[in-house]
Amino acid sequence: MPTLVLKRGAEQRIKAGHPWIYRTQVADLTGRWKAEEAVEIVDWSRRFLGRGFYNPRPSLCCRLLTRRDEPVDAGFFHRRLREAFEYRREAGLASDAYRLVWSEADGLPGLVVDRYGAVSVVQCLTLGMSRAAPAIADGLHRLFPEGRVQRSDDATAARLEGFEAQHDPSGEELVVTEGGCRFAVTPGAGHKTGLYLDQSENRALFAHHARGRRILDGFCYAGAFACHALTGGSGRALLLDSSADALALARRNLELNGLSARAEIREGNAFDLLRGLEGAGERFGAVVLDPPPFTRRKDSLAAATRGYKEINIRGLRLLEPGGVLATFSCSHHVTPALFEEMCRDAAGDAGVAVRVLQSLGQSRDHPVLLTVPESRYLSGLLLERIS
Ligand code: SAH
Repeated sequence: MPTLVLKRGAEQRIKAGHPWIYRTQVADLTGRWKAEEAVEIVDWSRRFLGRGFYNPRPSLCCRLLTRRDEPVDAGFFHRRLREAFEYRREAGLASDAYRLVWSEADGLPGLVVDRYGAVSVVQCLTLGMSRAAPAIADGLHRLFPEGRVQRSDDATAARLEGFEAQHDPSGEELVVTEGGCRFAVTPGAGHKTGLYLDQSENRALFAHHARGRRILDGFCYAGAFACHALTGGSGRALLLDSSADALALARRNLELNGLSARAEIREGNAFDLLRGLEGAGERFGAVVLDPPPFTRRKDSLAAATRGYKEINIRGLRLLEPGGVLATFSCSHHVTPALFEEMCRDAAGDAGVAVRVLQSLGQSRDHPVLLTVPESRYLSGLLLERIS
């Protein structure tokens, strides 16, 4: 079996519970490497550390799949998929639309699987996982005999890893239920794999705070926050997005839930629209700001922070006293601590007193592995304007 020998000391991260190995940490690769075969990983003194898929191309060249001396085969994938399903089933998260596999956090680094009704959408993020796709599909069929498996790889990851992204033609539109709402989704089409599943628990929370209030959904995409708020008893909603395609989805979902009459939609840049609303003296009882990542790189963090701060100043000023703001960043580099600092600055500049009602993060079907901080990417706060 091909063996990856680590440099002296490089085993520390692995021993601390993190599965990543960088090319600079590798001393040697012995035996004949095949992308589809997990390599054995050993430390400098040849002590066994585990097995993982290796790829010489990216700088993050290997991610540990197991710390046990076991084959990484169809049985392995079936077991891991079943464990991922059991966790979600027991936690009551295995609903009509949910994330079944969240990469490192489910012991399957480089793999994401989302479920929409009976459809499993598989996203391979590493060369090894793309080669293991048949075994993964087989495991999914065993778990969900009725279902269909659809590949929807991430093009950026595929380029980085050097494999051809596979994108099965998106299936037919389905209607899935989330909480009390119905959402139209075409698996594999649009953003993410179809829906922003990572916000499902926050949508329910927002709806609770939106009761009897007029709400603003600043970056609405398919209107999922607004649909939950209106269904949960919000009087009226204003939805903003810069994308006409997103707003078409939002219209469709509002209609599906019989909410169109209470919703107003505006297309444009939220930075401008929020400023305009503030200038016009508009006020809301609840605001949600769930923008796209303002940065994917560490070196543009300062500029991204300024962007987040600006929209949050506006969001806070648009709140009536007692109103709540659910605000988020899905930029990996914006940690919860940085995000809170940014919100503190925004509240200072906005000149409003703010109570932290709750820290928010990704829904529990996107679990965070304590030893892998990268598995947490969504930072959020639920804030109340108290004066
Ligand atoms: N909250 C949504 C997901 C939002 S994704 C949900 O729960 O489903 C972010 C959205 O912001 C996308 O729809 C994107 O089109 C939109 N967007 C990106 N830049 C924008 C801008 N400058 N102004 C307004 N919308 C923007």
